Order: sequence, then structure tokens, then C-alpha cells
Amino acid sequence: MSFVQLNLFDNNYNKDNLSIADKWENLKKECLSCTKCRLYETRTNVVFSDGNINALIVVIGEGPGENEDKTGIPFVGKAGQLLDKIFESIGLNRQEDLLIINVVKCRPPNNRTPLDDEIKACFDYLKKQIELSKGKILLLTGATALKAILNINSGISKVRGKWFEWNNKFVMPIFHPSYLLRNPSKEVGSPKWLTWQDFKNIKQKYDELKNKI
Ligand code: SF4
Repeated sequence: MSFVQLNLFDNNYNKDNLSIADKWENLKKECLSCTKCRLYETRTNVVFSDGNINALIVVIGEGPGENEDKTGIPFVGKAGQLLDKIFESIGLNRQEDLLIINVVKCRPPNNRTPLDDEIKACFDYLKKQIELSKGKILLLTGATALKAILNINSGISKVRGKWFEWNNKFVMPIFHPSYLLRNPSKEVGSPKWLTWQDFKNIKQKYDELKNKI
């Protein structure tokens, strides 16, 4: 799938004299009232982001689920708690060291996978969020993020743990925490064990980049 750059941001967003924080707030304001795809009809809240726009790591999920739609915060509930725990195990904290965003900002009904036209309609928000952030490492959690960013349609298991390059960023697909909740074994070769290998690799890259700042 290829995504067309849409002309969504022709007002305050493009004023060059604005600070990054102001541009971020303008983008958020625009997103919070967005009606560009059908998902606006059934959402409770637009789920824009959580964490720190100055963080080196950007976690990209698929879209809001029920808890996220209720709270307006991405990756809450059990999957979010597991994500936080995994990052804490390598010494990183959600609010300081991560920016967390989704491919689509509004919940698809019954948690279905977002449709191609919904992903396309929301893609400029995602791209601008990445551009405005200081993120150098993008972690793609699950197949929708993999498809939206790298245009790879295979399952995560074939590519997880590998580094890709996208717009001068280091990109790694990883298992979605919901998948890890469904597969709790920690045996060698299990999804949890593989994820631990991936996170050791991610921490190594993070430390390398941090030392260059
Ligand atoms: S999912 Fe994205 S494009 Fe669709 S209404 Fe929500 S913010 Fe707009």
C-alpha cells in the first residue's frame, strides 16, 4: 500500500516561527476534531499520544481499543501495563523515555483491524507526529503498524527483531503486548523470550544513540 500525502495542515501547523511544542499542540487540536474517516462516528475520544515528544523511542500501535477510547490514552489496560513493564525492565519509563502513538487515532468498531482507507486518511497525523518528535527509534507493534510504515504485509514473526531504515529512523517490528499476554510461556524460542532478545537489542541501540547526543 502506498499513502498519499494529504494537505491537511494548511493553517497554523505550517507556520515556521512556531515552536515544536506549538506545532504539536496545533496538530493535536486539528486531530481532536477530525472527521476525515468514518471512525469519528463511533469514537468516544480521539487518542492522540502519550509520553514525551522529545523521547528517542516512538512506539507505534494499531489503534485504540475499548480502554483507550474511554480514556483518550494509548496502550492502557493489560497490554499497556505489560508494555510499561517490559520497558521498565530495560530501565526506560513511559512518560520520560517514550512517545506512544497509534496508526489510527479513533477506535475501530468492535476492535476490528483498521481498513486501508482509514489508515490512509490518518497517515498524515502519524507522519507529522514522527517528524515533530525527536524519535530516532520506531518500534512497530503488530501488523498494521508494519504495513503502514514499512509497507510490509507479512506477519510480524517473519521480521520482528530486525532493524529497518525509514526516513532516517531505525525501525524494528516487535510483537504486540496483547499477543504476549495470549502467549505467556517464557521458554526459549517463545514470543516472550524472543521479545526479551529484541529489547536487549533495542536498549543497545538506545544507549548508542543516547551517547551521541
Ligand atoms: S481515525 Fe484519524 S482520520 Fe479517522 S477520524 Fe480519527 S483522527 Fe480522523
